[in-house]
Amino acid sequence: MTQVPDSVAAKHYAFPTRAIRAGQEFDPTTGAVVPPVYFTSTFVQDGIGGFRGGYEYARGGNPTRTSLEQLLASLEGGAKAFSFASGLAAEDTLLRAVLKPGDHIVMGNDVYGGTHRLVSRVFVPWGVSISTVDMSDLDAVRKTIRPDATRILWIETPSNPLMKISDIAALAEIGHATGALVVVDNTFASPYLQRPLSLGADVVVHSTTKYLGGHSDVLGGAVIVNDAELAEKVGFLQFGVGAVSGPMDAWLTVRGIKTLAVRLDRHSANAQAIAERLVGHPRLDAVYYPGLPGHPGHELAAKQMKAFGGMISVAVKGGAAPAKKFAESTVLFQLAESLGGVESLIGYPAEMTHASVKGTALEVPDNVVRLSVGIEDVDDLTDDVLGALDRL
Ligand SMILES: *Cc1c(COP(=O)(O)O)cnc(C)c1O
Repeated sequence: MTQVPDSVAAKHYAFPTRAIRAGQEFDPTTGAVVPPVYFTSTFVQDGIGGFRGGYEYARGGNPTRTSLEQLLASLEGGAKAFSFASGLAAEDTLLRAVLKPGDHIVMGNDVYGGTHRLVSRVFVPWGVSISTVDMSDLDAVRKTIRPDATRILWIETPSNPLMKISDIAALAEIGHATGALVVVDNTFASPYLQRPLSLGADVVVHSTTKYLGGHSDVLGGAVIVNDAELAEKVGFLQFGVGAVSGPMDAWLTVRGIKTLAVRLDRHSANAQAIAERLVGHPRLDAVYYPGLPGHPGHELAAKQMKAFGGMISVAVKGGAAPAKKFAESTVLFQLAESLGGVESLIGYPAEMTHASVKGTALEVPDNVVRLSVGIEDVDDLTDDVLGALDRL
């Protein structure tokens, strides 16, 4: 694997400093402060096998991708990061590296729909089996694990769209007791709010499409690991299968990550203020936000997260019709899938992000609407949401 010199990643600078500098050495030729985008598919060799900086062919490595991977490893506190063309490509590569036919995987019963689809439609036909369980119920997790077969315990916290909080440290212990690999999808929290490897998890996966990229302009994914043997396997499949991120995508993601800390501070503050305004609203049955003292995972979230993040879901009184009308009548909150960008988005999970799990145990109640709270002015955002509820 390739490596460029990096004076910042290894040092104990604080997170916001590393977000801006780790993996971001200035260009040694020109002094350009921002490392260039290396638009190249191949690299000249100084004699056969004489690779400059280890670079040979871009599926195996490209300096722009290396820069993103060093940055991600530094931010998650992992030994090695691998970046991919999408979050699902990252997950697929990790699953191939770990699973074989006959293995069993345990996932939350509100896991991201695309992750469930990947396992149930691609890995199950290949001979893997899956069980889903409420990850916030530790006894239920213990009972669902099959000591002889469970190879992966897959955690997502906060979960989507009901913002359930699962205890990463406790689940890591449970998983390790029977030799399962403990994987955390850290997309909703981002490493600024939560660092699963430091809580005992073995692997972190990301859809960098969301908070890490942060501007809704690039798709990407990542796998971050500590174990050298697993790193070797994931690295081999990244090269051997080839779902890598292209240089422009890697560069845009790096650019987005520079402001991760300030964005997440604002996302969290805005979401907290809006959630507090929505509690007890006459048009709502429930507000799901871990920053609310009444949320069942509030104390756990306060312990394992730096702040509560930018995602809120609400249950609208009266069922599907008013819920859909609400999702269609905000102005600043634009109706779209995805989350984690600077601009606010609103979605109707039952027919949008979670349409693929309709009719399964993972189906989302039809009165739930999900808000990805952006970093616009908090009063503008609050007025937008309250105005749309008033018009129901
Ligand atoms: C979006 C998302 C994914 C999938 O990532 P893509 O980049 O869309 O492939 C996985 N997990 C979570 C939690 C997500 O929100």
